Amino acid sequence: MATLEIKDLNVSVATESGPKPILNGVDLTIRSGETHAIMGPNGSGKSTLAYSIAGHPKYEVTGGSVTLDGQDLLSMSVDERARAGLFLAMQYPVEVPGVSVANFLRTAKTAVDGEAPKIRTWVRDVNAALERVQLDNTFSQRSVNEGFSGGEKKRHEIAQLELLNPAFAVLDETDSGLDIDALRVVSDGVNRFTGQGDRGLLLITHYTRILRYITPDFVHVFVRGRIAEQGGPELAERLEAEGYDRYALKGADA
Ligand code: ADP
Ligand code: MG
Ligand code: MG
Repeated sequence: MATLEIKDLNVSVATESGPKPILNGVDLTIRSGETHAIMGPNGSGKSTLAYSIAGHPKYEVTGGSVTLDGQDLLSMSVDERARAGLFLAMQYPVEVPGVSVANFLRTAKTAVDGEAPKIRTWVRDVNAALERVQLDNTFSQRSVNEGFSGGEKKRHEIAQLELLNPAFAVLDETDSGLDIDALRVVSDGVNRFTGQGDRGLLLITHYTRILRYITPDFVHVFVRGRIAEQGGPELAERLEAEGYDRYALKGADA
């Protein structure tokens, strides 16, 4: 049983005109075995939350805490966070020209486990993981994300998720830009991950569509850098019907 605890998190992003406050007191606790969905309008700070948890250098924590089983995540390097059991799939995965998917995955696995995976079982595991997300194994020789379609990037991230098998995963808009078949493949992968029973998931999304395939235990509505409302899966259905407009008036001066 592990707990990822975010308390009163305040974060500013570095911009040309100086730091700009984005997160204004985020409180969120995710226990292993729980799936939490964060939904919210564009620009509300969802990706900022994901980057802050993962340790992106552009995002400065100005207050609050993020702990994993009581350990201070914010004082850890990005590598240490991964070793502590955290995984982030970014909304816009970066291209890494010259680094093959195979090498990238092996390097990541080695960093997380503290030792290199056994080569024979590893090649088999990688091919199986790619196959499960319907990427053929020529994919492992391609440069990471270079020339990947939107769907291929997301499938590759799910293969990564399954191979690294972290305690907690933060998936930032893993559903955007996916056609219905890719959405199903990606959702199936996420459900295999959470189906292990003891994993924690923070699923960030703008649309309710993916929540037809992945059932969250908790839904949080994110507006202007904080959680404006929380509930169960029924909250997602209400958002589907009503959109985010009803939150537009609340705290419009924020
Ligand atoms: P979301 O993921 O909910 O769409 P983001 O976290 O990407 O929201 O962005 C929240 C706000 O922070 C937006 O107003 C965005 O323009 C601003 N922001 C995020 N990153 C930067 C940056 N690097 N420079 C300037 N503004 C940024
Ligand atoms: Mg569960
Ligand atoms: Mg975003």
